[in-house]
Amino acid sequence: MSITLEQINKSFGAFRALDDISLAIGDGQLVGLLGPSGSGKTTLLRIIAGLESADRGRILFQGEDVTGLHVRERRVGFVFQHYALFRHMTVAENIAFGLDVLPRKSRPVAGEIRRRVGELLEMVQLSHLAGRYPSQLSGGQKQRIALARALAMQPQILLLDEPFGALDARVRKDLRRWLRNLHDELHFTSVFVTHDQEEALELSDQVVVMSAGRIEQVDQPQALYARPDSRFVFDFLGHVN
Ligand code: ADP
Repeated sequence: MSITLEQINKSFGAFRALDDISLAIGDGQLVGLLGPSGSGKTTLLRIIAGLESADRGRILFQGEDVTGLHVRERRVGFVFQHYALFRHMTVAENIAFGLDVLPRKSRPVAGEIRRRVGELLEMVQLSHLAGRYPSQLSGGQKQRIALARALAMQPQILLLDEPFGALDARVRKDLRRWLRNLHDELHFTSVFVTHDQEEALELSDQVVVMSAGRIEQVDQPQALYARPDSRFVFDFLGHVN
């Protein structure tokens, strides 16, 4: 499902967090939003999700205007940095909760829920942990469960806000590879926020570089390096090698 942003503006009081953002994301792409802290990445992601409304501008999914639609009606899956799993629920219950947020008419019945949860656990390769509680899992496992919960509603768009931010380097690398495979297999459109240049370049089909509420550059990872002004991008990100 393609995502089109047209002249999105968002201010918090007098502060302009997003300044005329226009962007086209193709169906099935994995797009990294890269930029320093405070550049507006999370705000943009929340506006795509419908968790926050823009002051001005339009959002289209596959050509259809969703600007006025509620978060539930947009059918997007999210994963945040801090898992947001429910501590008092088992792994299976946490995933089933993802099915519960579906609109009433497409919500599955009890037997069907069990089957779907089983499938999702298999997809994230954690079937053996169905009865555990989040406190008994590693960070990487928790993040995979959070992803399974997001996938429960069969989203065509998946939004991830610093999904691996809280994890150590080795686990991050494994999860990146795993997310890339899952993305390609399920063919959804994904947008993820990161301030990690390496992560953006390794994982994305397109990298969107943001700074102070504006888009500085949109390019394929290889092209970002090749451009004559790429030094500018990496300089301002503070990661020049
Ligand atoms: P990033 O994700 O790139 O770090 P954010 O989108 O979180 O940036 O924030 C962009 C700017 O908007 C920051 O300066 C932040 O303080 C401000 N901001 C974000 N959300 C709010 C809010 N709810 N109220 C006031 N200011 C906000």
